[in-house]
Amino acid sequence: MNYKEALQLNIFSTISKAATELQLETYVIGGFVRDFILKRGDAKDIDVVAVGSGIALAKKVASLLPNKPKVQVFKNYGTAMIKTKEIEVEFVGARKESYERGSRNPAVENGTLQDDQNRRDFSINAMALSLNEATFGDLLDPFNGLQDLEDKRIVTPLDPDITYSDDPLRMMRAIRFATQLQFNIDPVSLEAITRNAERIEIISKERIVVELNKILSSQTPSIGFILLEKTGLLPYILPELQALKGIDEKEGQKHKDNFYHTLEVVDNISKHTEDVWLRWAALLHDIGKAPTKRFHKKIGWTFHGHEFIGGKMVFKLFKRLHMPLNEKMKFVQKMVMMSSRPIVLSQDGVTDSAVRRLVFDAGEHVEDLMTLCEADITTKNPRKFEKYHNNFKIVREKIIEVEERDHVRNFQPPVSGEEIMKAFNLKPSREIGIIKHAIKEAILEGDIPNEHDAAYTFMLAKGKELGLEVHPIK
Ligand code: ATP
Repeated sequence: MNYKEALQLNIFSTISKAATELQLETYVIGGFVRDFILKRGDAKDIDVVAVGSGIALAKKVASLLPNKPKVQVFKNYGTAMIKTKEIEVEFVGARKESYERGSRNPAVENGTLQDDQNRRDFSINAMALSLNEATFGDLLDPFNGLQDLEDKRIVTPLDPDITYSDDPLRMMRAIRFATQLQFNIDPVSLEAITRNAERIEIISKERIVVELNKILSSQTPSIGFILLEKTGLLPYILPELQALKGIDEKEGQKHKDNFYHTLEVVDNISKHTEDVWLRWAALLHDIGKAPTKRFHKKIGWTFHGHEFIGGKMVFKLFKRLHMPLNEKMKFVQKMVMMSSRPIVLSQDGVTDSAVRRLVFDAGEHVEDLMTLCEADITTKNPRKFEKYHNNFKIVREKIIEVEERDHVRNFQPPVSGEEIMKAFNLKPSREIGIIKHAIKEAILEGDIPNEHDAAYTFMLAKGKELGLEVHPIK
């Protein structure tokens, strides 16, 4: 089989020329070949393997390119990289690997192309195209990756128990590819992952999060989380989600399975946003339900305060997984903490003041919050489904209306603390806080408009109530 048409970029003919000059067998391998055959758009990362020195090849290639790009050399890994505006090419010498338990970093020695293909994680990632002049474009596919692409199968080239135990990150990668490509993991592989699940503990949190983010960024993220659960990996990675699984029954009353509900919410939201942080919020929006679950004889199952507890758990979870503790974490936390607000609001009747408070508290994230709440509607009753969506439509319309009139989204107090001090000839004191708070409340309640003069008049009245005297200057 020949795939010359995959190699139309100039870089490939240059690599081929360099390989001939250095008399090095050279191939393009891995994701580039897989994605070309799958027609997954233009790959930007190109992995090139040379039977010999990848670094020497990279340097030769750079010298033959018209703009003489810089070669980044990673001596410890024996790899080199050439970056252009459009693509990144990584060069590596073919190698043979042997692993020791307790580390995913193998002992490495030089090897043949076949050795290098043996160390690849899956048959679909082990396919290579020749860059050698005589065989340019020929497919080298020792494990029948082409057939597995056709059959949508994730299979390891060698014994899966060894493959996964050697480098347990591959378990995450298998599940990530299954999710991204909507492929099935071979049953023998799936069993091996299940057997080796605890080995995930030797993998760094950062690498696990890279895979989680790729799963979450896929079209149907639930595929990955169901596999993580099924293989027993989930408790090591996201025990908070594992704890949501299952249905309890007491005195004939059941609650829904919050794990599968959560996954439905994540799939739903993924149809409406590419923002991985909003998808994280969907994934975590109910995690507070496990620790707050109670049964009461009269009212059945409750999860009181789960949003607040859930928000606190977001911080701990991000910290444990070495995820950023910056504004992204705060965003996810805020979404989780506010995740029931629009629902309560639409049940209680959509009043102006309730909407104003929602916009005030959610600020610039109010649309994201609405998107989350809409995704949270997973009822199978079509009448309820329509009713809830309609309620949220009304909330969305009201948000626009209220915001046009009152501008509370990025609320700035219309009367400053300084003005208050001047008006009553005060030094910094408790009264200023009380008056500021009262002005904000009056605006949110709709008692006064969000304007300076109205707020000033209100302030004078409030001051009087507190027994303050107006300073004669103003
Ligand atoms: P993507 O770009 O979507 O992550 P990819 O297959 O290009 O997909 P990379 O992580 O860039 O993924 O890896 C490039 C190639 O290196 C893979 O196709 C595979 O052949 C090999 N590879 C990567 N990680 C591993 C691993 N942990 N074990 C074995 N082979 C691996």
